[in-house]
Amino acid sequence: SEEDLSLVDSEGPSEEDDEEAVRPVVAVVGRPNVGKSSLVNRILGRREAVVEDVPGVTRDRVAYDAEWSGRRFTVVDTGGWEVDASGIHLRVAEQAEVAVELADAVLFVVDATVGATDTDEQVVRLLRRSGKPVVLVANKVDDQRQEADAAALWSLGLGQPWPVSALHGRGSGDVLDALLDVLPEKTSVAGAYARGGPRRVALLGRPNVGKSSLLNRLAGSERVVVDAVAGTTRDPVDELVELGGKVWRFVDTAGIRRRVHQTRGADFYASLRTQTALEKAEVAVVLIDVSEPIAEQDIRVVQQVVDSGRALVIGYNKWDLLDEERRHYLEREIERELVQIQWAPRVNLSASTGRNVARLVPALETALASWDRRVPTGRLNAFLGEVVAAHPHPVRGGKQPRILFATQAGTRPPTFVVFASGFIEHGYRRFLERRIREEFGFEGTPIEISVRVRE
Ligand code: GDP
Repeated sequence: SEEDLSLVDSEGPSEEDDEEAVRPVVAVVGRPNVGKSSLVNRILGRREAVVEDVPGVTRDRVAYDAEWSGRRFTVVDTGGWEVDASGIHLRVAEQAEVAVELADAVLFVVDATVGATDTDEQVVRLLRRSGKPVVLVANKVDDQRQEADAAALWSLGLGQPWPVSALHGRGSGDVLDALLDVLPEKTSVAGAYARGGPRRVALLGRPNVGKSSLLNRLAGSERVVVDAVAGTTRDPVDELVELGGKVWRFVDTAGIRRRVHQTRGADFYASLRTQTALEKAEVAVVLIDVSEPIAEQDIRVVQQVVDSGRALVIGYNKWDLLDEERRHYLEREIERELVQIQWAPRVNLSASTGRNVARLVPALETALASWDRRVPTGRLNAFLGEVVAAHPHPVRGGKQPRILFATQAGTRPPTFVVFASGFIEHGYRRFLERRIREEFGFEGTPIEISVRVRE
């Protein structure tokens, strides 16, 4: 019915967008199985059900809106990072490092029934170095008899351990009160989940594709590096660069300039860096080295961007090294390996010579405009009505599922919800996506379409 649909049928930016820009960020950190996700569910209370109500849309989401005692904040559930896109287990300390970089305060969860482990101690050292406020949660204290277990965690040196049973809810109110006591009113995390300010770009790609050369070229040739924004660690993390008359924030540049762990676990570390940068960015430039065959690792980075729902521009770098023969193979590789992102603007450039580097700016602008774009419900339905009339869903088992109504439920990236009278096949969804792209553009952004079946 119309009533049901009004939930998702909002148009234009809401006032909440501004508020979201300043909302503080809380990261929930701890070893696997200590109960991080249960605690997050506890904090979110009923809100989580709303999140899950839109299948597909929130699949990879780790940040949620939360509210306690009338204050709103963002909760980051690092539990969702334990297995990353390529199936590698993130090490706890690294996960904590990332979370801390992105948060204004940390809920550090320890399993009181196990006590402090070496890993916990390692995380504690990292948390203390960060200087961020930490609230120590002694979880799995299901009844009063176990409170002694919680008290033993004073030894971690993080102050009072708060006994909690995330599962049953015991003590969670006290923890949240303690959290609000140390949580700043406004976020100081540079652009982590915030909106407004310079647009945030992640420069990505496997080692040696030319990220650092391009960054130097961008920051050097175009008059200024406006500023190096101090991060939470000693290294500058973000860099403000003026390009095409506008200031852009290149996020997580420390990972580009520093030669990070090239030895053991390099892949793992690279993928983690990519993930951190994406969390902070709105748009990614993925560099691909055209002098070499497109590699598995290139495709993985591209896939990480798509999965993160960020806008995407592809920079084909080292164009100066391209000869006729290599060019021929390159185009075939692109067709074969990167068909799924045909929608991404492409810039053939050379960080060394500066060729076409200036073209990155319009490409970024196009991608971001698409990412922000909202198609009015009326227009969307008028268009889909025509499409569906001309190409109805195939009949299966004597039935023909009909498309009833569609709406764009969100932006950044654009997400659509399609209501149908029966199961819509994968192929038909792809067809709808293709037609929506043809009609409305969306160059440079992934789009998501989820289907809800109505009886
Ligand atoms: P990163 O690991 O992605 O930061 O890559 P670097 O920026 O360190 O570049 C790796 C190597 O490729 C260096 O030797 C660069 O000089 C070289 N390089 C980077 N961009 C270009 C380019 O456009 N053309 C050529 N010929 N070499 C490049």
